[in-house]
Amino acid sequence: MTIVILMGPPGAGKGTQAKVLADRLGLPTISTGDIFRANVAGRTTLGREAQRYLDAGEYVPDEVTNAMVRERLAADDARSGFLLDGYPRTLDQVAVLDGLLAEQDSQLDAVVVLEVDPDELVQRLLHRAELEHRSDDTEEVIRRRLQVYAEQTLPLIEVYSERGLVIPAEGAGEVPEVTQRILQVAEALLHRNR
Ligand code: ADP
Repeated sequence: MTIVILMGPPGAGKGTQAKVLADRLGLPTISTGDIFRANVAGRTTLGREAQRYLDAGEYVPDEVTNAMVRERLAADDARSGFLLDGYPRTLDQVAVLDGLLAEQDSQLDAVVVLEVDPDELVQRLLHRAELEHRSDDTEEVIRRRLQVYAEQTLPLIEVYSERGLVIPAEGAGEVPEVTQRILQVAEALLHRNR
């Protein structure tokens, strides 16, 4: 059972790198952002509830997000471990995840934190806005997302550092370079769990 969290600010490349890391570790990726976007696209009840938060760059309320993750973690493919991309993002979510893992008698192996300079983040997000047209990639919403991350999610790094779980990974540079660094992190993780 391997459980890894991938953390990092908006634009750090979590989505891209989560796939690489999950492949290498042989784990499914659970991306809360992707699940929300799929629900918005599918016009589900959850999607209708989440959309206004996504569009504004705000976090979806904890009760909604936690309930969604609880259900996702109960699926068969999560039984031998998973990589979390974009969850937890608040201290309340950390507590809920701790509870869910305790119920399953499992524990976190590592929190990989992608680190990228704030100016580069904004550049990357604006560039992505031109390519992908995500509803939350406008300059104003990008600024709000970075602010929400700093206020609500940065404190989690301290919490997980105190538990000795944080593995920092430099996220600057071209995608393949970052992937190489992430793969080194993966090797370290595989080693640890042997
Ligand atoms: P990014 O990290 O680039 O902002 P994500 O795809 O991870 O992009 O998330 C997009 C949006 O989905 C967030 O701005 C937020 O509205 C919502 N979201 C994703 N994960 C969470 C979470 N753990 N808690 C609350 N809202 C979330």
